[in-house]
Amino acid sequence: MPSTPLIVASLLSLSLKERLRKANRTMMPKLSKVVGRLNRAARHKGLVGDLRTAEWAMTLAHFHHRCAYCGGEYWSADHFIPQVLGGITSAGNLVPACWSCNQRKGPSHPDHCSWISPSVLANIHAYLDPLLLSRETQQRMISSRLPVAMDQT
Ligand SMILES: [Zn+2]
Repeated sequence: MPSTPLIVASLLSLSLKERLRKANRTMMPKLSKVVGRLNRAARHKGLVGDLRTAEWAMTLAHFHHRCAYCGGEYWSADHFIPQVLGGITSAGNLVPACWSCNQRKGPSHPDHCSWISPSVLANIHAYLDPLLLSRETQQRMISSRLPVAMDQT
């Protein structure tokens, strides 16, 4: 077994790209479990659950793996529009949150949470809204192609 300095030296000799790939290999299985659990929970309630692991990884990176509301320690995915209000489990509706903000927000609409500052809300919207829009566009493209697919059968 190589000594610790040898392991460190071998890691340092890797290129940034290789180090990122290694980090991804260890991170992605955990992330995909989390994402799978979120999607299953949503579908179990008859709600949309189509979050992808790569999308959640992108969102976590965007918020620097910190709570989107207070910058605290990331604890779980938070439905920006709560599920009880029809919020979907999709990249356009999920942000990382700390335990405290997640509890505090509960089933309230983000617009009704006066403790979330307008600038924080604006930042979250700036990130989520394009994702929601691109999802709607994709859905429309899929549904507009459906009749064509059915004609071919
Ligand atoms: Zn927080």
